[in-house]
Amino acid sequence: MEPVSSVKACGIYARISSDDGTALGVGRQIEDCTREAERRGWPVSAVFSDNDVSAMKAKKRPEYERLLDAMETQAIDALVVYDIDRLTRTPAELERFIDLANRRDTALASVGGEVDLSTPQGRLTARIKGDVARHEVEQMSRRLKRKFQASADEGQAHGVTPFGYRRQRIVDDAGRPAGFRDVLEPAEADAIRECYRMLVAGESLRSLAKYLNDGGFRTGRGNAFVGNTVGNMLRKPRYAGHRTHGGEIVSKGLWEPIVTQDTFDQAAAILSTPGRRVSRGLEPKHLLSGIALCGRCGGKMRPNIGKRRPPSYACPDCTKLTRQMAPVHEVVEGVIVARLSMPDAAAVTAKKPDALRAALTTRDAVLARMDTAADEYAQGVSTARQFARINENFKAQLAGAERAVMMAQPNRVLEGMTGAGAAQMWENASIERKRETVRTLATVTILPTGPGVRFAPEHVRIEWKS
Ligand SMILES: [Zn+2]
Repeated sequence: MEPVSSVKACGIYARISSDDGTALGVGRQIEDCTREAERRGWPVSAVFSDNDVSAMKAKKRPEYERLLDAMETQAIDALVVYDIDRLTRTPAELERFIDLANRRDTALASVGGEVDLSTPQGRLTARIKGDVARHEVEQMSRRLKRKFQASADEGQAHGVTPFGYRRQRIVDDAGRPAGFRDVLEPAEADAIRECYRMLVAGESLRSLAKYLNDGGFRTGRGNAFVGNTVGNMLRKPRYAGHRTHGGEIVSKGLWEPIVTQDTFDQAAAILSTPGRRVSRGLEPKHLLSGIALCGRCGGKMRPNIGKRRPPSYACPDCTKLTRQMAPVHEVVEGVIVARLSMPDAAAVTAKKPDALRAALTTRDAVLARMDTAADEYAQGVSTARQFARINENFKAQLAGAERAVMMAQPNRVLEGMTGAGAAQMWENASIERKRETVRTLATVTILPTGPGVRFAPEHVRIEWKS
């Protein structure tokens, strides 16, 4: 129980960073503070409220100054605030406030109730809470700066013109220069589009680089493309029309996208699959190296190329299984082509398009709402704390939505490989494409045999996936 109060005149202080009329509006703060004062038996004699003053701007707070005066002159001997972050904006300000309250023996209370500035514990809590509030404001300032910086970049021709675009000067009605805009460079844009198509079809980054180099294209710095450059390029959301800054998508770009969101998402899913297309320096020359499994230990078979022996696969893990390549390839290729020729082959890896559409809709909705929230904060419609809370929530939603999109991606490796012409298409396909096709369709295991047993097709086990 509270002891009988000796307070004669209680003040209330309320502050809001913008006039948003939400739960923390000034009216609501004053109402709650009044109830708290009543609960404590403190007669309210003065209400101070600063309106529309953001903690981000170093504006004067006239009512706060009046409050300090009232405390100094002991016109009030108690104060109720809604929350400590309404009271002071910086740790130094808080220290001055605590000092004044101690000197003039002002009783203090917050609606939350936990913060009692008259005890050491309460002051510590207040300092910590104050720091948290300040930290949030700083974070928001950074995020907003990024947003504005990004708008500036897009108009100011900052950095290198991206591959696929040409930078065009724009002038306003009076003929004055008004920044730049990126327009499609048709040949490069077509090449990028083809790169996305090849990647989604299972080609390696290395063959994409080769395709670009063979076409006479060079990087912005005039160098030949290598796999990693192409991978980093295709990861850029700008090609799907998104503007990014500091690695985050901040809004819709003003330029024409080169690929659809759908294609971009599929490529992103492929590029983010760990260990899938990691360049090991040498181009894989063998259909099944690292794909076929050892029937003894389950290890991955690797090529074993000697001068006097025909090329073989060998298990580096148990070292007990070696098999010549040529007959294994013959069996595997024959079975795979037969599978590709079957009428239902195209449906093997098709996923439900409904699931993908739903996942994309959810993801786009979250992105749109993040944009709106940032705009509202920029326009002062919401406070830094509200924006921080909303944004945290959106980030979690976005991560979930992106996972869902990735899971629902159809596998396009088999596109163009199936049907009556499968044998011919297989013949023409690159080694990478063939390897991806095998990987997509089946698990290949090379079984051990007794010594001196001649190779037979049964010594290769092919299990269809799903
Ligand atoms: Zn083994």
